[in-house]
Amino acid sequence: MAVPLLQTAMVGAYVVGRHLRGVKRYPLVLMLEPLFRCNLACAGCGKIDYPDPLLNRRLSVEDCLEAARECGAPVVSIAGGEPLLHAEIDRIVDGLIAQRRFVYLCTNALLMEKRLDRFKPGPFFTWSVHLDGSRAEHDASVCQAGVYDRAVAAIREAKKRGFRVNINCTLFDGTDPVRVAAFFDEAMEAGIDGITVSPGYAYERAPDQAHFLTRRRTKQLFRDIFQAGRGRRWAFNQSSLFLDFLAGNQSYRCSPWGNPTRNVFGWQRPCYLLGEGYATTWRELMDETDWDAYGTGNYEKCADCMVHSGYEATAVADSVRNPLKAFRVARHGVRTDGGMAPEIPLDRQRPAEYVFSRHVEKALEETGPKR
Ligand code: SF4
Repeated sequence: MAVPLLQTAMVGAYVVGRHLRGVKRYPLVLMLEPLFRCNLACAGCGKIDYPDPLLNRRLSVEDCLEAARECGAPVVSIAGGEPLLHAEIDRIVDGLIAQRRFVYLCTNALLMEKRLDRFKPGPFFTWSVHLDGSRAEHDASVCQAGVYDRAVAAIREAKKRGFRVNINCTLFDGTDPVRVAAFFDEAMEAGIDGITVSPGYAYERAPDQAHFLTRRRTKQLFRDIFQAGRGRRWAFNQSSLFLDFLAGNQSYRCSPWGNPTRNVFGWQRPCYLLGEGYATTWRELMDETDWDAYGTGNYEKCADCMVHSGYEATAVADSVRNPLKAFRVARHGVRTDGGMAPEIPLDRQRPAEYVFSRHVEKALEETGPKR
């Protein structure tokens, strides 16, 4: 099963509780980035292009635990950079589990096998291994040969020791849907518990700008993948309506507050993908962010985004409001033909602002490098 029953029940109760109380904006998954340093340099990554003093900074164990307490999200996804490069990552995971949060530790798996004995298997902990395709595609995507084989070896060892293991797969333009389908089969056969899949976001700082997907191409790609996968038993770690959205069957607006991001700069505005500013506290992030200024149709940088960190929370909220619709898609599968849901018009979006250098200079000047 992609999601343990305990997680389904606890997160379901949390979401329904928020809806019954009429809470308009609430976090679902805290994206925690305790460091930006990585041991790979992927062409599609927009996270590691910082000067060394900032790449050397770390969130402390207490910073991480406090971030989870402040926002209260039931699920924490620890990303980065490469979280296994953080010397106290096991203490961060243990502390979050002690708060009864479901922890997904995202990793490129280069260090995973070596570090397995620092972690304990259980329903609150899942490895989320970055794999963008089978051997050739993945090694090309991470710009280093041999990474796929090390990741698969780590996955097999983790499964042998009783851990839950998901794969986290980002798709780029030019992806062959039939090969993706074969890769998902291969991953399921390797014994993984679930698949998280998303189109790559066009990070403005990513070295390779040529292979990011537009929304139209994204929808067709996912239709083709789901069509190729008819009858196969892929366990997605995502809601049925989010998958339906990827295939062009839902018109959703982004809910960036659903996956808030806490990193070495503070609480990132507005989302995991875009760093347009930083708040010191969770409350400040929620109260002082102009949420209407972001999302597809509102802001040029959001035009092509269909990433789960913006749209999964929207799909979950829709599932609570329309459980029958969600059930139908879960039961019968995602529709892969016929007309697509209307697209959000882009004619009123505000132009992109380029603020990266300003934030980096400010971070270097004001706070200086820490630990
Ligand atoms: S659409 Fe939402 S998730 Fe995507 S970049 Fe914009 S604010 Fe972030």
